[in-house]
Amino acid sequence: MRTNDASSTLLEVKDLSAGYRDLLAVRDVCLSVHPGEVTVLLGRNGAGKSTVLLTIAGLAKRASGQILLDGADITSLSPYARNGSGISLVPENKRVFRRRTVEENLAIGGYVLTRGERRAAIQNAYERFPALHAKRHDAAGGLSGGQQQMLSIAQALMPGPRVIMLDEPTAGLAPAIVNDVLEILVSIQAEGIGVLLVEQLVDQALSVADHVVLLDHGRVQYNASTDGLHDFEQLRNIYLGKQSG
Ligand code: ATP
Repeated sequence: MRTNDASSTLLEVKDLSAGYRDLLAVRDVCLSVHPGEVTVLLGRNGAGKSTVLLTIAGLAKRASGQILLDGADITSLSPYARNGSGISLVPENKRVFRRRTVEENLAIGGYVLTRGERRAAIQNAYERFPALHAKRHDAAGGLSGGQQQMLSIAQALMPGPRVIMLDEPTAGLAPAIVNDVLEILVSIQAEGIGVLLVEQLVDQALSVADHVVLLDHGRVQYNASTDGLHDFEQLRNIYLGKQSG
């Protein structure tokens, strides 16, 4: 869903190769995220999707390539500095601190903020997620799966990111909650934040996507706007066509 000022590029990944010890899990990956738009990263298990997100966040080892945020090269910044400069990650498998309260989890999400900024950001989080306000003094481990995912997203929003990356945010959630998560994504992009989404529910992902990037064995096989794309079947045909071509 396109909003304003989507013509400029917020996050640009250029020829990124990255991996683990002697394994190069992704090679020469190029993708971009625009303000107020959703770029969806698709691919089979092991294709390298999480590695791309982790490398952008500075949490996996880059071998070569560049990462630009609003034109500024952030490739050499620490994970902390990247978070502070506007990139947040919602990792796979809900990383809330189960024994900490909801409010403590939010405070941890805002670790790059000053105390005053953190207090204001927590209030914003409660306005966006009233269910978290009701449970603010409860241990996060006692929340439902959907509420834990909301908390995980709220944590990532704490520093006021310009780009938020989400790694399979609907995994393991009931269908009704999946829709809630997608609605949150739509509200986030409506604020002009760029979204980079890894998602297994392809149809749902395409329903919110402006751009789609398909990874296969660590390489980009398809990268285009969803403007002319109607459904997953069409994407699959494009992919298979490229494979056989
Ligand atoms: P999934 O959908 O299963 O999460 P993915 O597309 O996100 O898969 P990655 O998790 O990025 O794929 O994995 C890409 C490759 O890197 C795979 O071959 C995987 O086995 C390998 N890999 C992932 N994490 C590590 C790690 N910590 N150490 C070594 N190899 C890893």
